[in-house]
Amino acid sequence: MTNTYDNSAPVALVTGANRGLGHSVARQLGEAGATVLVGGRDAARAAGAAASLREAGLAARPVTLDVTDHAQAAAAAAQIEREYGRLDILVNNAGILPEATTPDLKHPLDLDVFRSTFETNLFGAVAVTQAMLPLLRRSSAGRIVNVSTAMGSLTEQLDPRSPYFGLVLPAYQGSKAALNALTVALSKSLAGTPILVNSVCPGWVQTDLGGPDNRAAAPTSAEEAAPVVARMALLGPDGASGTFVDQAGPLAW
Ligand code: NAP
Repeated sequence: MTNTYDNSAPVALVTGANRGLGHSVARQLGEAGATVLVGGRDAARAAGAAASLREAGLAARPVTLDVTDHAQAAAAAAQIEREYGRLDILVNNAGILPEATTPDLKHPLDLDVFRSTFETNLFGAVAVTQAMLPLLRRSSAGRIVNVSTAMGSLTEQLDPRSPYFGLVLPAYQGSKAALNALTVALSKSLAGTPILVNSVCPGWVQTDLGGPDNRAAAPTSAEEAAPVVARMALLGPDGASGTFVDQAGPLAW
């Protein structure tokens, strides 16, 4: 296929971009001028999501990528290398919250739930980052955004005044606390390079993540929540690295 895209435009990969927050982030990065690679674990859904962005006049291509499939991550990196030679922005957005539909939270230590949650929310982000890092190193302004949540903040979980104090979702919270630790570690190991790494909480968003009642209960649409993620993906050369923020500013780890 002929590459008809502007080679000077930033190239951005968003995982889990076929719907929900990731799709809005992909749209807003496209609107900011990026060529957006729309990651999706189902090839047809990724293609449909990319097509809808192209219909809006944006530069978007689908990338079939189940973040738990390390071979697919390697294949996606090879595809991006062939077509663009580099990657400027990686948004590790794909995530799951199986505990939202776990019927009995009195017994929250379900090893299978822990394994599946960590497999996507942490190991998936590690695998995709590992596969994309050589391409991000070729960028003059590499950016990694890990989509996290204030629910993963240990400080919030321990503060009786916090709205998150009463929430006990240990697999999800543990996976996002670990993702935050990954942000810190990567920011240190990439210090002195142009690559900035940050964690972002989008707020409570009207998506399918939190179970059947979440869309009605959440205050913020995906389009309203996406700008803070896009902003951290488009940080300038003096931007921060190793931070955890939401749209209002820094969050406690
Ligand atoms: P969502 O509507 O359920 O969308 C999740 C996305 O992740 C979907 O595109 C889904 O793809 C994809 N995904 C799941 N497992 C995947 C895998 N193994 N490989 C590739 N893609 C996979 O949820 P969302 O609310 O947009 O969540 C996006 C991110 O925001 C998550 O990391 C979540 O933890 C974070 N977040 C959300 C909220 C909130 O209130 N919604 C708050 C804080 C943080 P399929 O369509 O194939 O399932």
